[in-house]
Amino acid sequence: GSGKGGVGKTTIAVNVAIMLAQSGARVGLLDADIYGPNVPMMMGLNCLPEPNRGKIPPAEAYGVKVMSIGFLVKPGQPLIWRGPMLHSTLQQFFSEVDWGELDYLVIDLPPGTGDAQISVSQIVSVNGGVIVTLPQQVSVEDARRGVEMFKRFQPPIPVLGIIENMSYLDLGNGQTMDIFGSGGGKALAEETHTPFLGAIPIDPAIRTGSDNGVPVVVSHPESHTAKVLKQITERIASGLSVLAFLQEQHV
Ligand code: ADP
Repeated sequence: GSGKGGVGKTTIAVNVAIMLAQSGARVGLLDADIYGPNVPMMMGLNCLPEPNRGKIPPAEAYGVKVMSIGFLVKPGQPLIWRGPMLHSTLQQFFSEVDWGELDYLVIDLPPGTGDAQISVSQIVSVNGGVIVTLPQQVSVEDARRGVEMFKRFQPPIPVLGIIENMSYLDLGNGQTMDIFGSGGGKALAEETHTPFLGAIPIDPAIRTGSDNGVPVVVSHPESHTAKVLKQITERIASGLSVLAFLQEQHV
């Protein structure tokens, strides 16, 4: 999730899902962002496979099963839905899509603290939430609301951590420029007693990857950006393992 749109939430969800799949896990990616269902574009997908009888088959790319509200609307068409319509569609995404057995289902929520967040928390038991923010204060303020939202659900959704995106621009020769300020994500993590999962630089390869449908961890797997995303993915996976262990022990 994120407080604001355009902070790179979808980009990170896509790359994290692919990295989880690359580690050998069975991964689904559910795009619940009604305002900007960009997962299909970023994954190089434009339609669902032909349905056969039974459940809806998800699309698949880079080893990840994908379902998106974007598959249901024509390109460029806005989705003007009230809460109940959104709720029933999300319910179908969980119950009528043929996900098979999954180790992880990554859910890309719309920005903010609205209907989709409430519906998802009511429909499934969410193991952990991740919040993406830019370093700048206006983004951090909204990210703080996102963290609080996860904590206020009944039962609360454990916050696995905060990711700071577009943290700096690498100018070469060891120099960087903090275009959106610096340190906001880390400060928020400390203030909310939440793990800080990592800082992702501004990288043109991320942008081209999103537009071309070849995410950066596939197009530039050896880049610094891909390495940061890998570390973030590992931290998310180990956070979930710890939570699962504690749950088993009834802690
Ligand atoms: P959100 O899901 O938060 O609305 P997106 O993931 O759609 O945001 O990202 C918005 C745009 O910013 C996309 O075009 C994406 O490629 C670009 N982008 C995201 N993170 C970065 C980054 N670290 N460097 C360069 N471009 C980025």
